[in-house]
Amino acid sequence: MNEDSYQPAHIKVPPMFVWPPRPKQALRYLTIDIMVPWGLFWIVLAFLLWRFATPDFETMKHLSLDWIAALWVRNAIILTVVAGGLHWWLYIRRAQKTETKFTRRWLARENNRFLWGDQVFDNITLSLLSGVTFWTLFEAATYWWYGNSYIESPAISGAPLYFILSIWGVFFWSTLHFYLNHRLLHTKWLYTVAHERHHLNVVTGPWSGISMHPIEHLLYFSVFLLWWIVPVHPVIIILTGLFQGVSPAVSHCGFDYLKLGKKLQIPVGDNFHNLHHRFFRINYGNSLMPVDRLFGSWNGGSDQDMQKMRERFKHEAN
Ligand SMILES: [Zn+2]
Ligand SMILES: [Zn+2]
Repeated sequence: MNEDSYQPAHIKVPPMFVWPPRPKQALRYLTIDIMVPWGLFWIVLAFLLWRFATPDFETMKHLSLDWIAALWVRNAIILTVVAGGLHWWLYIRRAQKTETKFTRRWLARENNRFLWGDQVFDNITLSLLSGVTFWTLFEAATYWWYGNSYIESPAISGAPLYFILSIWGVFFWSTLHFYLNHRLLHTKWLYTVAHERHHLNVVTGPWSGISMHPIEHLLYFSVFLLWWIVPVHPVIIILTGLFQGVSPAVSHCGFDYLKLGKKLQIPVGDNFHNLHHRFFRINYGNSLMPVDRLFGSWNGGSDQDMQKMRERFKHEAN
């Protein structure tokens, strides 16, 4: 049987970046395609966490193990619910078998390059022990920075439009930051000492999302540092953490759609990044910002793009 009998749709350059301009499609992309359902899900969750599971700045202006450990537990629980839930449904229950699965291969059970020879245990360990820790430390340090008034956090009521725009700011900044740090991680030294760990996952599952070497986590979660100079509301800081820390569990889940019942299917996996895991030297960024297009490393999955990629690889090998 063909390894890839499922054919996902080809990935197109978002309408904000095409010429001539397509304002209607661009607006639709920014308000519907990005937001429904996942963008909205992270935004609502960020509000809930701010309201019910984040200490106030007054508490966080003093660094203390108490509240930082509580944040770590909060973040670990969210990641475990999302990644663990998807893993249970798709890989343990195998509820939709290989329907919309990018590859027919399953996760590695006996591969000595993974900790304990098991991809899933390896991924869980790196994600929780290192990933959630770096995420939490950057998040906590950012609150501490605001708590000490090194920068003022604008209230939503005082600048509602600024708040709304900063939501898109999270998505675009995270995408640009991802391209930059990921491109850097593909330089020879950093790839060998750090990024190779993430790439052991040729076939990815939900727990592969932030399964990385600690050096990669340090670079990857430095995304928070922009908010040390650009003032934002705490919900934006939380949203940054969710987008960076938990949304990769969804995008790496290995399936294009989550099928619930006969009619409902929710888009989950990111085929653009899935292709990066399979072919390495393409798609360093995400499709939201087509930086790869500028540098010739874009592969949207079409026959034409595949052909172009093979020619490029052949050329580079000579
Ligand atoms: Zn990845
Ligand atoms: Zn990579």
